[in-house]
Amino acid sequence: MKYIFITGGVMSGLGKGITAASVGRLLKNRGYKVTAVKIDPYLNIDAGTMNPAQHGEVFVLHDGGEVDLDLGNYERFLDIELNSSHNITTGKVYRLVIDKERRGDYLGQTVQIIPHITDQIKECIRKAAEEPAYGGKPADICIVEVGGTVGDIESMPFLEAVRQMRSELPISDRALVHVTLMPSDSMGDLKTKPTQHSVKALRELGLFPDIIVGRSERSLNSHTKKKLSSLCDIPQKAIISAETAKDIYQVPMELEKEGLSDVLCELLHLENEVASREWYRIVSKEYTHRIIVGIVSKYGKEDVYLSIKEALKHAGRKLLTEVTIRWLDAERVDIADLRECDGVLIPGGFGVRGIEGKISAIRFCREEKVPLLGLCLGFQLSVVEYTRNVLGIPDACSSEWGDGTAVITILPEQEGIENLGGTMRLGDWPVSIKPATTAYRLYQQTEIIERHRHRYEVDPSFISQLEETGLIFSGTHGNRMEIAEIWDHPFFFSTQFHPEFRSRPTRPSPPFLGFAEACLKNRKKGE
Ligand code: GLN
Repeated sequence: MKYIFITGGVMSGLGKGITAASVGRLLKNRGYKVTAVKIDPYLNIDAGTMNPAQHGEVFVLHDGGEVDLDLGNYERFLDIELNSSHNITTGKVYRLVIDKERRGDYLGQTVQIIPHITDQIKECIRKAAEEPAYGGKPADICIVEVGGTVGDIESMPFLEAVRQMRSELPISDRALVHVTLMPSDSMGDLKTKPTQHSVKALRELGLFPDIIVGRSERSLNSHTKKKLSSLCDIPQKAIISAETAKDIYQVPMELEKEGLSDVLCELLHLENEVASREWYRIVSKEYTHRIIVGIVSKYGKEDVYLSIKEALKHAGRKLLTEVTIRWLDAERVDIADLRECDGVLIPGGFGVRGIEGKISAIRFCREEKVPLLGLCLGFQLSVVEYTRNVLGIPDACSSEWGDGTAVITILPEQEGIENLGGTMRLGDWPVSIKPATTAYRLYQQTEIIERHRHRYEVDPSFISQLEETGLIFSGTHGNRMEIAEIWDHPFFFSTQFHPEFRSRPTRPSPPFLGFAEACLKNRKKGE
């Protein structure tokens, strides 16, 4: 197993995750099996209990792991399925060590950060790296991204573990990539000083980067590269310029042009032949159409709904259609804004804030025959809207946020759960699709698997009344409703699951593809 460690310097939010995922993609393009591990130095066991407005979306893995959004980038760029062990947090590591201490496994020793925590970190990294992710076989290369910025107190034990791992590995089995910021001054010149300082901080920890990826608004010229090369003891060809790209999926190509693969292949003694160009073919297609999709959001935008944004992009690209997102605040939904959209997406969420705005947007889409895609909470609210305005029960609600007639109620197995972390109905669950429905047209299968994250469901006592009045449950899991659709409508489609988590640039999610197609038709109708 070869390891590529990725660290970050100067500040967070530099796109270290995209760089890590892109490095993986470059090696995958060369025919290698690549996996990835994300280290998050916070004390939470996982991202499940974290506020998405602060930390970005909670990504859900097939095994139900609620993890950092970078795992979503890895899955999309590498086209693999990862599991919870691929997201290591301080909380997870300490819990394992404390459990061992309580069991008496340390045989009377004083339990310390070095060696006990660092040994545990190394064990977690190796275990995740060696997971048989490729048809029963492990990957050839594991990317290990250390979250946070070099110099943070929280990441110290992880960087120490990386240092130890590096010295234990043969030279050709390891590389260290340091991703850093190159700010520009008022004259537009790129400044290397912050990078010099962060490389110095790394060296003080015994870590010597092999490659520097400089994130900047403009590309690094040879003068800047030369300067950094001599100040940081890194060959000039290993100083890689990473300008902000128009689309994240183009980052691998940009890094390729900069020679990153050549340097990595040399360091790791890898074959440097490109085995597959599929990725480049997909991401370099030119758009010929454009659609506007309104997302009724309440947690903010961009990172909070990252997988949704990406899934829209995947579907759009397949149709050569550029998707422009219009963010609509759920607490101030304006019909005039909705009218400017070719389709509306109602994402998942929790709690009462913004509920009525989302319901009014759904009503508008149903009545005005505007394409609608509802996801999780969006699915539940489609059912509430239908119950209120078609079934004629004006106080219909979900028992999560209302006290009228609850058409959405808590899943029986969720009743009485007190611990909020990791206890929802999570991850992969099979869904049966009814033939001759929109769901079947999209999936072309009667049994599918999708990822879930919810505590509430359509109350089974309402199912027959809803179906009799035209809301069809075309996807089910026993008597658990998974997909709702209306036939007398161009596209009114909602899912209890989150199809966005399985969407890939290479394989767009069927509901997103159906939705984008409907938006395109709607746009053409208006033109
Ligand atoms: N709050 C709803 C539930 O728990 C929906 C969850 C979601 O949108 N992820 O069932």
